[in-house]
Amino acid sequence: MLTKRVQSLSPSLTIAISTLAAELKAQGKDIISFSAGEPDFNTPEIIKDEAKKALDENFTRYTAVPGFPKLLDSIKLKLKRDNNLEYKSSQIIVSNGAKHSLFNLFQTVIEEGDEVIIPSPYWVTYPELVIYSGGKSVFIETTDEDGFKITPEQLKAAITPKTKMLILTTPSNPTGSVYSKEELEALGEVLKGTDILVASDEMYEKLIYEGEFTATASVSQDMFERTITINGLSKSVAMTGWRFGYLASPKDELIAAMKKLQSQSTSNINSITQYAAIVALKGEADSDIEMMRKEFKKRRDLAVKLLNDSDKLSVLKPDGAFYLFVNIQKISNDSMTFCKQILEEKGVALVPGVGFGSEGYFRFSFATDVDSIKEGITRIKDFCDNY
Ligand code: PMP
Ligand code: GLU
Repeated sequence: MLTKRVQSLSPSLTIAISTLAAELKAQGKDIISFSAGEPDFNTPEIIKDEAKKALDENFTRYTAVPGFPKLLDSIKLKLKRDNNLEYKSSQIIVSNGAKHSLFNLFQTVIEEGDEVIIPSPYWVTYPELVIYSGGKSVFIETTDEDGFKITPEQLKAAITPKTKMLILTTPSNPTGSVYSKEELEALGEVLKGTDILVASDEMYEKLIYEGEFTATASVSQDMFERTITINGLSKSVAMTGWRFGYLASPKDELIAAMKKLQSQSTSNINSITQYAAIVALKGEADSDIEMMRKEFKKRRDLAVKLLNDSDKLSVLKPDGAFYLFVNIQKISNDSMTFCKQILEEKGVALVPGVGFGSEGYFRFSFATDVDSIKEGITRIKDFCDNY
């Protein structure tokens, strides 16, 4: 009954573990979860007020598939103001979360046999999207020793005549690494003269703790032409449940094809979400973003210090996002078993590194309150000492 296509997919490991942790908690078990890939803050009041206004104004009907004109204007404004990128409305499409934007993109450009270069560790969803589109993932391995960033030499070596696209995630989920302008320029130099596309996933753009964020498309005209910028509001303004993601590319034909696909699948995203998103895109929730960023930074510093106190563990201090990718190679090279046991024995939920393509690590989300971080890390250290 089931298609080969859907049978070839694996469920999202990050979602599976967060769901399991929530279920165990609901059963009354003492669980501390560091598995969530979402802010623990509420959506800012100013955004919620706009949603109420949308309802009062009966902004409740179908809109144009890529988003209504005022919304597209606010995305153009955001991309210009924050990233110095200029797009036309016809070059932007809003979808049901950045995950949906990525799904549309892969279905639109990846053909059977096309190769997609993915730096590893990677966000769990990318290789699945490649599988579903009939393509082939080509991984470039990185480790904590190289700051979890690919080099121009590694990129050059991974390119073949079949390479269709490179995925960059900056800041990264699961490592928090952030590419500098110079690093992006150097990667761009390797791509010059090819027709390889770059999918730049910039979901964690607003969560930067050291240095500056650089949008991949902004480093040169050549990179602008080949880059598809993917972003959203889930992480920056704590809107994970609202489902709002967008994608921009100067290639009108690419966006037109995605509009066609979306017109035959989900149509426009929720009209109320569209209406409310505008204030966030215009920068009116920036003080809320700054409050969250500062709090995340405090938690990052605390968690890194506590984890590195253990002689069994080591972790790099990430420049962005809200994840730590913790090295457990001194005690385990089977992160799945490690994470299963620590959940059963200590009630601590972590995501195994193997799910992100890198064995010998776990992912720790610090989008969790300080008391839980302290208690959770005490349990982790205790577990590791006796492992
Ligand atoms: N990209 C990355 C790197 C992510 O971590 C996530 C997490 N959800 C997404 C895209 C998708 O986010 P959403 O669909 O909530 O916009
Ligand atoms: N992106 C988040 C994470 O990595 C949310 C879960 C998901 O969409 O996979 O945990």
